Amino acid sequence: MDFKDKIRVISDFPQPGVRFKDITTLLKDGPAFRAAIDQMAEKIEDKQVDLIVGPEARGFVVGTPLAYALGVGFIPVRKTGKLPAETVEAGYNLEYGKDRLAIHRDAIQPGQRVLIVDDLLATGGTIQATLNLVNQLQADVVGAAFIIELTYLQGREKLPADLDVFTLVQY
Ligand code: IMP
Repeated sequence: MDFKDKIRVISDFPQPGVRFKDITTLLKDGPAFRAAIDQMAEKIEDKQVDLIVGPEARGFVVGTPLAYALGVGFIPVRKTGKLPAETVEAGYNLEYGKDRLAIHRDAIQPGQRVLIVDDLLATGGTIQATLNLVNQLQADVVGAAFIIELTYLQGREKLPADLDVFTLVQY
């Protein structure tokens, strides 16, 4: 399946010059959504993942069905101030802005095999911050998976060279 046919591109959102990749059109297509999650699951099924970690909000939309498909747990990464128990935090730069992310301190045991998941890899800032968080918890990061990679923003180059990065669609 060509997932690009299912992804809508919106010019000048959320600000002039950005060509926003809108996955809501993929998500509302049941067979396409299922095929995307199944393909991600196939790419990582030999990685012996213990936990999927996904940043809000679209990391939940992609990460939770993937965790369900693999029969493993899901750990949410959220903007600071949203998680109820004790957290660790990391700051990051976005394609358009700045923010801080948090994860529950007891979410991951040292050495657990973790896959980071989000809908889209742009500049890599979100994933660098998520990596920072799981590294603080001494996770064994086995890779990162995305539906979309914006190759022209070179986010992949900012990630550790030994990190396996899986993407379904590249622009
Ligand atoms: P990065 O931190 O620059 O890699 O940006 C990735 C994050 O921003 C992801 O969580 C995406 O959900 C969001 N994002 C950035 N650009 C787009 C886009 O074109 N479409 C959808 N989400 C985007």
